[in-house]
Amino acid sequence: VSRFEGVTMAPPDPILGVSEAFKADTNSMKLNLGVGAYRTEELQPYVLNVVKKAENLMLERGDNKEYLPIEGLAAFNRATAELLLGADNPVIKQERVATVQGLSGTGSLRLAAAFIQRYFPDAKVLISSPTWGNHKNIFNDARVPWSEYRYYDPKTVGLDFDGMISDIKAAPNGSFVLLHGCAHNPTGIDPTSEQWEIIADVIQEKNHIPFFDVAYQGFASGSLDEDASSVRLFVSRGMELFVAQSYSKNLGLYAERIGAVNVICSSSDAAARVKSQLKRLARPMYSNPPVHGARIVANVVGDPALFSEWKSEMEFMAGRIKSVRKRLFENLSQKDKSGKDWSFILKQIGMFSFTGLNKAQSDNMTNKWHVYMTKDGRISLAGLSLSKCEYLADAIIDSYH
Ligand code: PLP
Repeated sequence: VSRFEGVTMAPPDPILGVSEAFKADTNSMKLNLGVGAYRTEELQPYVLNVVKKAENLMLERGDNKEYLPIEGLAAFNRATAELLLGADNPVIKQERVATVQGLSGTGSLRLAAAFIQRYFPDAKVLISSPTWGNHKNIFNDARVPWSEYRYYDPKTVGLDFDGMISDIKAAPNGSFVLLHGCAHNPTGIDPTSEQWEIIADVIQEKNHIPFFDVAYQGFASGSLDEDASSVRLFVSRGMELFVAQSYSKNLGLYAERIGAVNVICSSSDAAARVKSQLKRLARPMYSNPPVHGARIVANVVGDPALFSEWKSEMEFMAGRIKSVRKRLFENLSQKDKSGKDWSFILKQIGMFSFTGLNKAQSDNMTNKWHVYMTKDGRISLAGLSLSKCEYLADAIIDSYH
């Protein structure tokens, strides 16, 4: 008899489990709209040309595989803070940013959560309802209490702005407020710039600490600067804040696990202390981060030609998603005879669309139509091609009615 009799079987992950089920399906019409990963029009994974060029540079230079420092590759940390905040942001020159390379977005969120648990043990984190499924896991495992603020309004398939503001107001002073920098996952619904100003007002009044999750910079609008404008607004107001970054989507570096945690502080002295403690937390967890993805980012951002090529590839990816979004909307509007208004699909931004399909309807999408998606009604448009939009529209209309 095993000593592991008491270990029960864990349920499959709600997002990554969808890919496993997809693989097992033999139907030729099957579509995987579960995981948020970019595919070409032929529905194949895509390695960016600039990534291949950056990798060639690494080979030519004969870069070695020595350990990185705990905080990561210096050239990467500089590049990532500049990309996020703008190279000429005064907080960089004033050395008020503590940047530590992380294990992509997830690992960076987890490191920041460990920091919150250690230095703000009485604080809770407010997260949007709904949010990316892993946020709750991350704060649970870090033993950081959380509660939800209203975000999605099913009646309008839009933002419940009043609900969001009153929940942020009602939270205890000094709470952390987790915000999606752009392209909110899973809803694809972002506040307008006027709404961001009001959110910043309320957070400042309440002495809350903003915590931005930036997983889609450049992928929402196609512009790195535009997608960082929410974060930069808060920084320009002199607020202290956390930002977790990921290069999974915008550079297609999913499996390289490259990202960063940035803490913008009121003084360089505070930033130095915060950074020292982030390193202290990282050391016993994973010692130091992997170098490959960090070098790719540093090479791409550090070379003007590669940097501008990256921007065009990103615009191309964002553009393909926008054209699929438009085609899906057109097919739904033409085919659905019920008079339902599908324009909410066009208003959403980024890789995902929140269809409003409930769990039973999402089950119908999978069981009858072989369309794999998360049970909250989210579909990844990055996994859809123009030629499959019509099929998907048929599936959605059948499942809705
Ligand atoms: N945060 C959000 C909102 C996401 O959607 C994702 C990826 O789907 C991540 C963070 C982190 O992804 P990764 O750990 O691959 O960088």
